[in-house]
Amino acid sequence: MMLSKAQQHDLKECETMMETGEEKDCSLCSCNGCLADVITEMSFEKYQLEAERTAGSLDDRNRFLNFSMGLAGEAGEVVDYLKKVLWHGHEMDQDKLKKELGDVLWYVATIATTADLDLSEIAIANIEKLKKRYPEGFDEEKSIKRTE
Ligand SMILES: [Mg+2]
Repeated sequence: MMLSKAQQHDLKECETMMETGEEKDCSLCSCNGCLADVITEMSFEKYQLEAERTAGSLDDRNRFLNFSMGLAGEAGEVVDYLKKVLWHGHEMDQDKLKKELGDVLWYVATIATTADLDLSEIAIANIEKLKKRYPEGFDEEKSIKRTE
């Protein structure tokens, strides 16, 4: 795990606050209390493992049911947010979109785990499929005439 400079600074500040007994807000720092939770780099494999921490203890059937419904709901939240940006005059808030896309990713990861699939394999297979389908990038004509 790598800490950014800002986080290292926060950690130092927080250690000082701990030594002096000052009250601190751990939601923004990387003190010893929450250092383990600060993540600045992520792989598909690590994400899939981390997502399991909050996946509960459902059997496979109920995982598929719960998580597929959750995926549809979160995809709807992404669409609804973009509708507000595109049609209702809301400003694009990247943090808001990031959170909603993260919710989608969580459900994709947990569904993949339930099916014993690796997210990285899914990503690779998807890119390979798209390279085969559109070797020169997306092409409307190829999309229209696509057979598979
Ligand atoms: Mg959401």
